[in-house]
Formats: sequence, C-alpha cells, structure tokens
Amino acid sequence: MIVMAILLMLIPGLALADNAVMQELGTKAAKAAMQDLKVEKGDANLLILTSAGHAIVDGETSQGAIKGLMNESGNCIGDGNLFQVLRPHWKPVWFFFFDKATGEAVYLQANSKSLNGSLEDFKALSDDKVFSKISKANVDIDYLRNHTDEGNATFNGKAFGGNEFSLAGIANVWARGGSFDFIQATCFHDHLCPGVTSGLFLAKFVEGKLPINNISAESYKVISCPNWCKDDLLQMRWDATPGKSGMFVMALTDAEKKAVPGIAGIYIRWNDTAKSGDALALAYNFSAVQLPTWTGPSWGSKLYQDIVLMDWTDKPEAFITILKEFKVDSAMLAQMQNAGMHPLKVAGVM
Ligand SMILES: [Zn+2]
Repeated sequence: MIVMAILLMLIPGLALADNAVMQELGTKAAKAAMQDLKVEKGDANLLILTSAGHAIVDGETSQGAIKGLMNESGNCIGDGNLFQVLRPHWKPVWFFFFDKATGEAVYLQANSKSLNGSLEDFKALSDDKVFSKISKANVDIDYLRNHTDEGNATFNGKAFGGNEFSLAGIANVWARGGSFDFIQATCFHDHLCPGVTSGLFLAKFVEGKLPINNISAESYKVISCPNWCKDDLLQMRWDATPGKSGMFVMALTDAEKKAVPGIAGIYIRWNDTAKSGDALALAYNFSAVQLPTWTGPSWGSKLYQDIVLMDWTDKPEAFITILKEFKVDSAMLAQMQNAGMHPLKVAGVM
C-alpha cells in the first residue's frame, strides 16, 4: 500500500511532456501572441518563426507545438508564413509572431518545467507559468530608424532571448517579399545576414554560367575555401551537403585571403556519368556596389544591408569576379577535396 502510494505520488512528476502538451503549448503561444498583436486567424500579414521541431525538452521532441500553432493561427509552410529556424536541440522552444502591417512582434519562450505535467494541468496554467519570457517590440527597420531608443532596448536588452538579430532580419526580409526558398535557407543558417545573401548571389551567378542541363548526371560541388555564411544557403539550394560530398569546407589564413582578395571558393558543375566537370574559381566583393548606408546604432547595420541587398538579387554579377575557368577530372577533383592538399593551389589560383 505504502509503495503504491509513493508510486502514485511520483508518477505525475515523472510524466514527460507528450505531444498533446506540446500541441497545447503551440496553441497557447499563438493565442497569447495573436491577442497581443490584435490579429485574427488567417491574417496574411502574420509570420510565425519557431524553434519547435528542433528543440528537445527532457527527451521529448517538440514538433507537436507546430500543430498547435497551425490550428490556432492558420499559418503553415504551404502559405510561406510559418518557418522552423534551426537551433541545437538543447536550446529552448520559442515562438516569434510578426505582424507585417505594423512591424510589431511578440516573442514567447517556453518554460520547460511547465511541460512535465499532464495535459489537463498544463491547460490550466496561466501564460506567465507556461512562458519564461514574453516580450513585444516593433522590429520593422523603417520604424526603428526613427525609434532607435526602442531598438536599443530590443537588441541590447536581448528582448527575444538573444534571437533578436536572427528573428528581426528574417521578418524584415519576409515582409518585403523575400522568396520562400531564400527564407527557408536563412532559417537553416539561423539568421539572415549579408553573408547568406552572398550565397544566393554566388549560386545565381554559377547557375547562369554553368547551368544544370542534365538533371540525372549533373550536380554542383563546392570547394568552400574559405567558408562563410554563404555555404549554408548553397547546401540548401543545391543539396550540396558535405555528407554527400557536395561540399568540402576549408578555412584560409588571413595572409592567404590577402593573397587572393575576395576568394570565394571553387564551384564545379560535375557530371557523374562522364566523370568530368567545369569549374569556376570566384571572388566576391562585398563592397563592390555603393549601397545606401545605415547611420543609426550598430544593431541596425546588417539588418539594413539585408534589405538593400534584395534589390541586387537579379544582378549578382555586380559582386562577383571569375578568377579562373577550368576543366576538372576525377583525379583533380580528388586532389581538391583532399585534406593534405591546398585546393586553391591545385586549381592554380594561388
Ligand atoms: Zn550569417
């Protein structure tokens, strides 16, 4: 009897957050945020970003929260207004709601301790128990230009749990018509920065010079040397992942970078039937174009660049120089991928 009683006492505490609780978490987040932002279900101005699906809380995966978000808001991947932003599994589950019409955003971070009880108990919890952080701020760059004190509070005060730049950047570009594939790639990268935009421009440039003509035999291979944010977009856009030998990533010393200014790696259209490819060694110059400049606090600088760079999406060649164009065979490809070799020396650009 005593053992039974002890067991019964322990069980509620032992119960892990299940999918129903996670779903309810998403529902609660959407309800609270939509009320705060005064938006109705199905409002086309609403964007939702979340770490749900990536975060794992006490061994429980969090994708159920996405179901709650979708049911409550009407937002979904198919409408391009719900995205999962990549985060390591040990980071918290958070939700970010952005209203394009006003620029206002609400951020809610789940309190992991609240997720351990039963669904019934969880339903009864108030928002301040469910979420360890609820904050609201206007993140529209045009608004922030004239309200830098609010921006200071948001960015310097970590209003979104350290996710300020990541979330504000993606939201601003989404609001200005950023394409689905681009937003998706920035969500894989964690944030939207001029570096990931350079990846889009490099990709478009390569696709123009070396188009894929044979979809069953050809693919792009990237000798990413040196690496930067661009590589995450290239992985998504081209399925050029390191695990499938689509990308080999190597760093350069400062001296090496200086020796080949702007070097952005080697881009190969590889034909796996012919075992040969066409390669471009490219340089990327971030300051090739005189962009409008941001004169406010530093937190706005990259955010603003993200937006003004959108105007150049169809003119990637403005930033890119071909250093060398050459043919690649299996032996040369193997050399450029090899840890003991220097790919830029193998390619003859250094
Ligand atoms: Zn980046």
